Amino acid sequence: MKLVLATRNAHKLEEINAIFDFQGLEVLSAFDFPDIPDVVEDADTFEGNAVKKAVEIARATGCWSLADDSGLEVDALDGAPGVYSARYAGEPCSYEKNNEKLLRELAGKKDRSARFRTVIALSDPEGNAKTVEGFCPGKIIEELRGTNGFGYDPLFIPDGYTETFAELEACIKNKISHRAKALQAAHAAWADLLRSI
Ligand code: IMP
Repeated sequence: MKLVLATRNAHKLEEINAIFDFQGLEVLSAFDFPDIPDVVEDADTFEGNAVKKAVEIARATGCWSLADDSGLEVDALDGAPGVYSARYAGEPCSYEKNNEKLLRELAGKKDRSARFRTVIALSDPEGNAKTVEGFCPGKIIEELRGTNGFGYDPLFIPDGYTETFAELEACIKNKISHRAKALQAAHAAWADLLRSI
């Protein structure tokens, strides 16, 4: 049976494929369906966007679909950039500009605590969806460090570590990240279901 990962973000695909045991399913991604339009992520929660992506891709492809919506929540910014993490500094989306804006907004703030959050949605071909969640607590540092990963990784040090996500090896990030925790929850909740589709 085919399962479509509802993303065209190559970094995310790499992480999801490295973490999740798909148990013999044939795994495709939105790259395999170039004619399907991009899903507009206009919900105001991670859950809303994850469900929207999974459901639209499942209905468009006729396959089961798995979608991830993630972002960074910074306590001193009342949870921003949150669900707007991708376009925090406006369009067109740029990781570099987002990181610059985050450093600007946090300049002079003592509380640097933050967390990455991921909601994963699984939809059947008719559009019936369910979700699980994972998060990774940490702090935002004052300058970019490291070249691995993507997005806000060079500014985020997970609790219990001294390196940023962009300095840690991918195999470490893939054990402790928000996406890893959400995929572990997905496996615990849906392994039997995925085996049966
Ligand atoms: P989305 O889930 O594709 O909407 O991702 C939203 C944004 O959150 C991305 O564009 C990144 O800026 C940020 N983000 C999500 N996951 C990560 C991660 O693992 N590391 C760094 N940034 C991330």
